[in-house]
Amino acid sequence: MRALKSGWIAPLGPEVDAFEFEVAARTARKHAVALSSGTAALHLALLALDVGPGDVVVTASMTFAATANAIVYTGAEPIFVDSDESGNIDVNLLADALSGLQRRGERISAIVAVDLLGKVADYDGITAVAAEWGVPVVSDAAESLGAYLGGRPAGTFGDIAILSFNGNKVMTTSGGGMLLTDSERIANRVRYLSTQARQPVIHYEHEEIGYNYRLSNILAAMGRAQLARLDGMIERRRQIRLGYEAFFSDVAGVELFGTPDGREGDSATRDNFWLTSVLVDYERTGWSSEDLIQWLAKVDIEARPLWKPMHLQPVFARAHAYISGTAERLFRTGVSLPSGSGMTDEDLARVTRAIEAFDRQWR
Ligand SMILES: *Cc1c(COP(=O)(O)O)cnc(C)c1O
Repeated sequence: MRALKSGWIAPLGPEVDAFEFEVAARTARKHAVALSSGTAALHLALLALDVGPGDVVVTASMTFAATANAIVYTGAEPIFVDSDESGNIDVNLLADALSGLQRRGERISAIVAVDLLGKVADYDGITAVAAEWGVPVVSDAAESLGAYLGGRPAGTFGDIAILSFNGNKVMTTSGGGMLLTDSERIANRVRYLSTQARQPVIHYEHEEIGYNYRLSNILAAMGRAQLARLDGMIERRRQIRLGYEAFFSDVAGVELFGTPDGREGDSATRDNFWLTSVLVDYERTGWSSEDLIQWLAKVDIEARPLWKPMHLQPVFARAHAYISGTAERLFRTGVSLPSGSGMTDEDLARVTRAIEAFDRQWR
């Protein structure tokens, strides 16, 4: 309401400045640039690292398409690396990919790591591999704001990290994103590219192609209100996870994906509980993840598979990939369940009752 009444309807304004300041503090970063989406933030992160045509960028196969799309926007070629059991990028395969690509004489201009479903990737391992080959790291933390790794917040890792405030994420501006970095040079470059690459003169002088990627003052104000509630929303999602955990402990053949992070006494490394997912062992349950998703849909409960890996997507069928089969297995066996912080205990009970009734039919 303050943003609306102030008359600052244009992109940028005091709420944007304050939102950037607050998110930078929350993620222990020196600079934050609010942008129109997480995808825009990825695009500008890569441009700020001089990624362009003829380059390759190595990224996780198990992610939302935005990660790979942003690489293609720059003219570079995405190279996909499989997951380890956590779902995040397999650091050993990443090392194989970098040495293999180097041997082929490719110019590897960035690694984009992804914090899958709110769990921070292994940045100790990733940055060690990246340092060996002198390649910068971008952290796609679109799903992990509020999570921690070894006491350090998601968004603090990599040369650049990006956040998304899309409507489906833990906190939202309805649509929006942010780029985080400790480099003043990168932050300035991104601000410039995001405002149509306008030179600092009054007559609209342009030496380069720019983008209209800034966030509006009104949406930033929504973001500030959401940020004030972030911890409460994460705590609610944690309760929901614990509720599912208690329920599934009695369902043979189904295990929670992403535990044991976030238990009591394990606060240094914990995810933000964005989505609670389970892995289904068909041999033991008699039913598959797909059967469950279809059953729930019939009673108006939305559940989904995990991200379909990029190396299995028709649009990336010809892309080079370093594969172990793990991401594909997670995709085939995983189900993400309703996990929103707006869910009541009664909502949760409705979901678990439906799964119970479904499971009983097969035993
Ligand atoms: C949501 C998401 C994005 C894109 O964010 P938008 O704000 O929707 O553009 C990028 N990467 C991952 C992993 C995401 O989940």
